[in-house]
Amino acid sequence: MGIVVQKYGGSSVADAAAIKRVARRIVEAKKDGHDVVVAVSAMGDSTDNLLDLAGEVSPLPPARELDMLLTAGERISMALVAMAISDLGYSARSFTGSQAGVITDSVHGKAKIIDVTPGRISTALDEGHIVIVAGFQGVSRDTKEITTLGRGGTDTTAVALAAALKADVCEIYTDVDGVFTADPRIVPTARKLDAVTYEEMLELAACGAKILHLRCVEYGRRYDIPIHVRSSFSQLEGTIVAGSIDDQQHQESTMEQAIIAGVAHDRSEAKITVVGVPDKVGEAARIFEALAGAQINIDMVVQNVSAAATALTDISFTLPREDGQTAMGALAKIQAEVGYDKLLYDDQVGKVSLIGAGMRSHPGITAKFFAGLASAGVNIQMISTSEIRISVIVDQAQVDAAVQATHTAFDLDADEIEAVVYGGTGR
Ligand code: ADP
Ligand code: ASP
Ligand code: MG
Repeated sequence: MGIVVQKYGGSSVADAAAIKRVARRIVEAKKDGHDVVVAVSAMGDSTDNLLDLAGEVSPLPPARELDMLLTAGERISMALVAMAISDLGYSARSFTGSQAGVITDSVHGKAKIIDVTPGRISTALDEGHIVIVAGFQGVSRDTKEITTLGRGGTDTTAVALAAALKADVCEIYTDVDGVFTADPRIVPTARKLDAVTYEEMLELAACGAKILHLRCVEYGRRYDIPIHVRSSFSQLEGTIVAGSIDDQQHQESTMEQAIIAGVAHDRSEAKITVVGVPDKVGEAARIFEALAGAQINIDMVVQNVSAAATALTDISFTLPREDGQTAMGALAKIQAEVGYDKLLYDDQVGKVSLIGAGMRSHPGITAKFFAGLASAGVNIQMISTSEIRISVIVDQAQVDAAVQATHTAFDLDADEIEAVVYGGTGR
């Protein structure tokens, strides 16, 4: 039997009883004859609680120390899970990300895994132990500092370990039964997907469906590791993330299958409008160079047609809300140079996205999406598209209504409720 890599999210290890339950599940996999490697998240909302605590101590905590603090959350779980396993008569060894060989770049708070050297894991497996790894963390090859992979990063730890250990599958255990056509917390009639391609899952994750960390899906696709997303609270089969929309087989099967994989939403962005930009060559480049210089990632961009009388235009874009103030500062510095009139900042926006490989070959998807939004009285502020996605920016207060209306417009609602949320606070 091969190596199985499992990941348990925060809500699956929220308290002592949950940790014991997870330990039993891990031992089952060992009893089935597998070598078992487990990545664990911090208990419940403890990462958020640690962040709150840091904020109380310092308004702007140093990034290095924040990573030192946050990685403690996963170290607590790894040791407790190992203890619970040993209590069941099996031997477990816990390792920090650094001990497990998770090597990253040096960017605190959103480090990228650049290599995995799982020597200690392999040795522990050879000795018959179950291996528990603290998720969401690694060590920088250059600075030797401890890093974190960004919120939700334990998913990526698990898939990276699965790739390095050549595991057959990576199982992501969470608080819902799989990937649904929308977040079950907003759409109780959402349907579970039995399977979804890497490309569709990448778009869902990039558009805010936090069921999987974006980088874990990228990793899975690159190393061809199937990801099985399922609940740690039930025995149901979950969703298999595998395959490409370009596979012949997939194209044939999607002929009869749903056109739409799902509806995702994201409340973490803000919108900035640069008002009264002279409509001249090079102005947009100057604006976005200033933002790039401040290390800010831009999402959607819209430029209005300039008014003939004034030859002035407005440029709006969205960005992570946490970068909002930095962006405003960077733009303020170039006001004289660019000659724009003023800046508007709006953090009361949300993004709603419709994702599906089938939209490549079905006309009318955009019209249906917009008609659904109109029926719910939702005004569209910005639009962007890719081959398999349409996204709109709307008023944040209307995000839930927009998601529900879109879900219904595409006939995605299940007749019987199957979207159980077993735990977690949704924070
Ligand atoms: P974990 O702690 O296990 O990593 P997360 O809270 O990060 O769990 O992710 C699971 C949550 O993702 C679910 O409880 C659900 O609210 C949310 N979610 C968002 N979009 C989806 C979706 N399309 N399908 C399933 N869950 C989704
Ligand atoms: N504990 C981290 C977080 O809450 C990492 C994870 O759960 O994947 O983001
Ligand atoms: Mg998660």
